[in-house]
Amino acid sequence: MSHLTHLECSLCGRTFDADRLQRLCPDCARPLLARYDLASVRALGREAALTDEPTMWRYRALLPVRKPENVVSLGEGLTPLTPARRLGEALGMSHLYIKDESLNPTGSFKARGLSAAISRASELGVQEVVIPSAGNAAGAMAAYAARAGMKAHVYMPRDVPAPFLLECRALGAEVVLVDGLITDCGREARRAAERGGWFDVSTLKEPYRLEGKKTMGYELAEQFEWDLPDVIIYPTGGGTGLIGMWKAFQELGELGWIGERRPRMVAVQPTGCAPIVRAFHAGAEFAEPWRDAHTVAAGLRVPAAVGDFLILRALRESGGTAVAVSDEALLEGQRRMARLEGIFACPEGGATVAALEVLLDQGWIRPDERVVLFNTGTGLKYPL
Ligand SMILES: *Cc1c(COP(=O)(O)O)cnc(C)c1O
Repeated sequence: MSHLTHLECSLCGRTFDADRLQRLCPDCARPLLARYDLASVRALGREAALTDEPTMWRYRALLPVRKPENVVSLGEGLTPLTPARRLGEALGMSHLYIKDESLNPTGSFKARGLSAAISRASELGVQEVVIPSAGNAAGAMAAYAARAGMKAHVYMPRDVPAPFLLECRALGAEVVLVDGLITDCGREARRAAERGGWFDVSTLKEPYRLEGKKTMGYELAEQFEWDLPDVIIYPTGGGTGLIGMWKAFQELGELGWIGERRPRMVAVQPTGCAPIVRAFHAGAEFAEPWRDAHTVAAGLRVPAAVGDFLILRALRESGGTAVAVSDEALLEGQRRMARLEGIFACPEGGATVAALEVLLDQGWIRPDERVVLFNTGTGLKYPL
């Protein structure tokens, strides 16, 4: 059973009813965060709180869906944490790991967020959904919407790689190609949502995709036997996964399931679109939009993120950092992960290898630290 209690604005703290459809805080236009009765879950104990389902719904006590029969699942989550011995050796490291999210349904970690968001939207009566996406989120939404029997509308940049388009259409979504970037798609999707009365599941503009993605943090804790690693390197676009994992660690702390130690969170972005890296090093609370964003890593081509301040907070609170890497370097990272570890990562995943090399060179990461690279999706959807 879900221990969800209410929603809370991430900026002003105002609270909202979780059993009604909600989007951004109407006062500050910033994300709402799901809150749970953690004291009850703590009293229940870890064994009783976790189910034995082989999916992220194992953590359903800490997820937002009220009734088990409303969960829309394709087997998302519980992805492998693979020791990266050969890549580690090549870099002189002794404890390097890859969390391989490419094994999720539809080939990326977007499945986690959309399983949660579509389940909860369906539970609250939504029948038609819309999403702006650079590719992976659209494919995932189309799949979960099909499974839930919902009508799906997708707004993607015209230059999206063909496999994403093929996937969305095959899964029955209506696809609109937009001349522009993800932010332009977001604007079009919002208009269409208002016109059609559809529910917009843009990342962080509804509260539950974040909840799906936070399960990556629970899984890491469990896979490391409740003793979190030293560093997590995460390819950051909208930042949902990074914010979600940081939220997960806070919840696990309150539950008493982990100790005080937290990983240093690292955001990696391409040099062609690095608004978070720039804001982090400027000491800013919010990130200025990036102009003329360009990179082969489509999931990282996010010039402005609604959760910018939450990403920056997580980086700073964790003692982490932010690194920009060139497209050339991230593609080289993708090649190294493939040839040394047998994982054909997306370019976004390759970026974590490039960032790791930079941070080792700087001495910011020590060779004996336990470091996790996030491969967020499969390389198969990015034709040359
Ligand atoms: C969406 C996406 C990202 C960025 O994820 P956020 O959590 O929104 O920062 C990274 N990699 C891939 C493959 C993606 O599809």
